[in-house]
Amino acid sequence: MIDVIVVGAGPTGLMLAGELRLHGVRVVVLDRLTEPSGHSRGRGLHARSVELMDQRGLLERFLAVSEKFQVGGFFGGIHTPWPERLDTAHPYGLTTPQHITERLLGEHARERGAEIRRGCEVAGLSQDEHGVTVELADGTHLRSRYVVGCDGGRSTVRKRLGVGFPGEPARVETLLGDMEATEDPATIAAVVTEVRKTQLRFGAVANADGNEGVFRFVVPADGVAEDRSAETTFDEFRKQLRATAGTDFGVHSPRWLSRFGDATRQAERYRAGRVLLAGDAAHIHPPTGGQGLNLGVQDAFNLGWKLAAEVDGWAPPGLLDSYHAERHPVGAAVLENTRAQITLLGTDPGAAALRKLFARLMDFDEVNGYVTGMITAVGVRYDLGDGHELLGRRLRDVRLKRGRLYELLRAGRGLLLDQTGRLTAAGWADRVDHVVDVSEELDVPAVLLRPDGHVAWAGEDQRDLEGRLATWFGAPSASRGTPRAEPV
Ligand SMILES: Cc1cc2nc3c(=O)[nH]c(=O)nc-3n(C[C@H](O)[C@H](O)[C@H](O)COP(=O)(O)OP(=O)(O)OC[C@H]3O[C@@H](n4cnc5c(N)ncnc54)[C@H](O)[C@@H]3O)c2cc1C
Repeated sequence: MIDVIVVGAGPTGLMLAGELRLHGVRVVVLDRLTEPSGHSRGRGLHARSVELMDQRGLLERFLAVSEKFQVGGFFGGIHTPWPERLDTAHPYGLTTPQHITERLLGEHARERGAEIRRGCEVAGLSQDEHGVTVELADGTHLRSRYVVGCDGGRSTVRKRLGVGFPGEPARVETLLGDMEATEDPATIAAVVTEVRKTQLRFGAVANADGNEGVFRFVVPADGVAEDRSAETTFDEFRKQLRATAGTDFGVHSPRWLSRFGDATRQAERYRAGRVLLAGDAAHIHPPTGGQGLNLGVQDAFNLGWKLAAEVDGWAPPGLLDSYHAERHPVGAAVLENTRAQITLLGTDPGAAALRKLFARLMDFDEVNGYVTGMITAVGVRYDLGDGHELLGRRLRDVRLKRGRLYELLRAGRGLLLDQTGRLTAAGWADRVDHVVDVSEELDVPAVLLRPDGHVAWAGEDQRDLEGRLATWFGAPSASRGTPRAEPV
């Protein structure tokens, strides 16, 4: 039997498939599209996602096809310099178009042995105590032990589960299109600057997705479409350009037309028995701050090793439920910050005044650092109870005497980084690497990292450590391991 069916080959589903394959889980990804769309809604990775790629040895691939950017705040369109102190060894984002992110994550998942089946639309599912039966639109069925719905904001999996999706419906809608224009780029830029003084939902970016001569325009739609799946027409697009900018710039040769709203909703539960939800299937919000793709990829990073542990049979009680417990509050916080950004982007005098004030506050490096930590997700801390200040945070990459921390996380296993040489994780050697090494950048005797790089324990007491090992990695096994490096 298949261990896990992942529904949806977007960034979330592909990241998850790669994570599951690190642990040998038999995974099949189903997507209704016969080919990847080749279009990009998302245009980049924030610092925490850059860190994830480094932790899995994928960063070089992303760097080869992306530019680095350093924009602080990135909040409500208020761009500031990068804050002086941000707790990351990767203080930048990457301008990677979404379709390239999907290609790279798909290649990685396939190289690891994931099967990606296209042209397979999931129409329904049912579960019992042993597994889940997935019904495809062509009437055939597939069975697996678990299913993860990564099938986007209109998730069929979420709907068939009957999981509530409370929040606010769209109040405004924006058209998005990639197309050529006869007007010269300098004139387009000047018009955009002028219009944006009063309408921040209008914009144009040259060389969309690296295509020379192609502009990505966004322009307010005329109201909210009743039929959310209605196609955007080129005529409609040109009409809205004229209504907003007074000109349609002589646009022609559209490559892609789409629309998005500001609906803000979150699934009540990320787990219903053997079925889980991740990415846009679990949360939707306006794209302000460029967080959605990043949030989904990070959901997958949190879920992958936990689901693999469950499949493998060593998951301690509550491990799989900790996915909802940890990621639901993170998703809720992103929804909150996008609500705040939408208010700041308003065109009424109150919003303009708030925006002015907020822009001045962002001049304080501490404020800028806080907001940037929020948008880039390096500030995320899971509630793992009381303890060391690092507990629940992901650890930044640090240089060790032999190599660097993130290189030690590539296999997706737990890691005991031991600067004392006195500790042992011998009973967990099949799940946790024990590395004895030192770092001038790490002010704690030892840390236990989960496979997602979050700190599960920090200290030097062996009994305390064993308690935490059991909490996160289950019961010790009989096999005994040895440290990967000699004591220093
Ligand atoms: C204009 C715009 C700009 C954005 N910019 C950014 C940005 O800069 N940064 C950022 O982080 N985010 C951005 N986002 C958000 C980002 O695009 C999404 O959050 C992201 O695509 C979510 O990924 P996902 O894999 O969860 O879902 P999706 O990308 O929606 O993928 C879902 C997949 O499931 C498949 N599917 C759906 N239903 C079924 C079914 N029944 N059976 C089988 N397959 C199915 C679909 O074909 C699709 O391939 C932006 C969004 C918009 C609209």
